[in-house]
Amino acid sequence: MKRVINFNAGPAAMPLEVLETAQAEMLDWQGTGMSVMEVSHRSKEYEAMHNEAQELFRKLAGMGPEWKILFLTGGASTQFFMLPMNYLFEGRKASYLVTGSWAKKALKEAKRFGSCDAASTENPDGTFTRILTQSEIKVDPASTYVHMTSNNTLFGTQWQTWPEVGSVPLMADMSSDIFSRPFPVDKFSLVYAGAQKNLGPSGVTVVAVRDSFYEKAIEAAKIPTMLSYRTHGDENSLYNTPPCFSIYVLDLTMKWLLKRGGLDAMAKINEEKAKVIYGAIDSSDGYYRGPVQKDSRSLMNVVFHLKDEASEELFVKEAKAAGIIGVKGHRSTGGIRFSIYNANLVDNAKAAVAFMEDFRKRHGKIH
Ligand SMILES: *Cc1c(COP(=O)(O)O)cnc(C)c1O
Repeated sequence: MKRVINFNAGPAAMPLEVLETAQAEMLDWQGTGMSVMEVSHRSKEYEAMHNEAQELFRKLAGMGPEWKILFLTGGASTQFFMLPMNYLFEGRKASYLVTGSWAKKALKEAKRFGSCDAASTENPDGTFTRILTQSEIKVDPASTYVHMTSNNTLFGTQWQTWPEVGSVPLMADMSSDIFSRPFPVDKFSLVYAGAQKNLGPSGVTVVAVRDSFYEKAIEAAKIPTMLSYRTHGDENSLYNTPPCFSIYVLDLTMKWLLKRGGLDAMAKINEEKAKVIYGAIDSSDGYYRGPVQKDSRSLMNVVFHLKDEASEELFVKEAKAAGIIGVKGHRSTGGIRFSIYNANLVDNAKAAVAFMEDFRKRHGKIH
């Protein structure tokens, strides 16, 4: 068996131990004589695991019992419209902090439901190379909520300090950096994340919502049943069949995170990885060029360019031959992107840097 160094942006690398446990338990889960995919979602075994996954999520995040943890489907992209559908009604308005293409998509969906203020860092050429500064963030106190995207998966930017938004409820799409570092839970009313980057497999989206904010959602009767947070919150995300297998692997992934020391430990590892890779970029005499402003650099998605597309293509090809896959930048940005989510530990970052240095040595002259 050969495992590659996987820098895919999502679905992405998962911890080997998690995969091995899922494999070992595949045919007979918890003595049921069935796989977790075959048990009833109404069984006591399933429900115990489902509740444990919620509890571990709270524990890792540092959330108290006043947080509901919902397991939904439709990806983070469904939250782009479900959020405003539940909160942006009857002439209300919302504020969007736009620091990348996912944030833009979230804003686009919200505009279907009400008026939105937006502050954006989009450059004239359509790229994003920095996070908003505090002075650019002027939130109308009449806003129902403020929406932000903590990490910009495509362009490789990440909020390094959290915005001040006054008393307006703050919500965040944390799909690509959730649980990569601790975050100030007290600041937020709702956070959500598609699981397939840092939490496990695709198929489940976690929505964590504070009870006091949950109560403010529009009543369920006014919107389609499956799109109301109240439907899922009131039924413990068991109103209909949940994505059982994805939730199970999420549960295993959170156990792995806790075993490794939780979010403080992950943050240290992630800082170390980023330091190693950005260090290689910054010390390459311009051979590798990172477009992102230094104070906005993402610790999860490292984006850089070589001098031209042909060199980047060669880089991708040779990386693959060296066992490092998923390094081609997003189709809208080009360049190279290393997505170094939690499952990629420091050794993989070091291996990537060894490859970068070797590549530069061999091809430096064509620069
Ligand atoms: C990947 C990603 C999404 C989209 O997630 P889906 O689960 O595919 O809908 C949304 N927001 C961010 C920040 C992402 O990285």
